[in-house]
Amino acid sequence: MANGILSRLYRAFKRFDQAVDILLGRSLPPGHLLAIDCNALSHVQPTIIPGRSLKDILNDAILWAVPKKRRTIEKRLNRRFGVPKYNWKPHVPKTNIIMCRKCGHDYEVNTLCGYCYEKVKLETKEFKE
Ligand SMILES: [Zn+2]
Repeated sequence: MANGILSRLYRAFKRFDQAVDILLGRSLPPGHLLAIDCNALSHVQPTIIPGRSLKDILNDAILWAVPKKRRTIEKRLNRRFGVPKYNWKPHVPKTNIIMCRKCGHDYEVNTLCGYCYEKVKLETKEFKE
């Protein structure tokens, strides 16, 4: 236990000594900070397209409209379902619903009766087995 405390103190003093050296300019920072090759950055040439300024690029780009503020859930629901104050979207009754001749359930025109379809689906499944 005493050995562990001593090694911790040794490491702490070592780090403090390194920090003081760095602050006074006597040594370089620890190794992992030296991993960056600063010379490589000077060789990189910026890609400049001649005759294309930032203004030209922005003129060619498509800038999408972005909302500046978030709409509250109340306003979103009002816009979606309609409120007399904003935009009135009254409920319109469906007139294209007819009754199935076989089973008596209701379904939309130009679609299959849902109940009959389920019955046929079950029969087909039984045939396959
Ligand atoms: Zn039916």
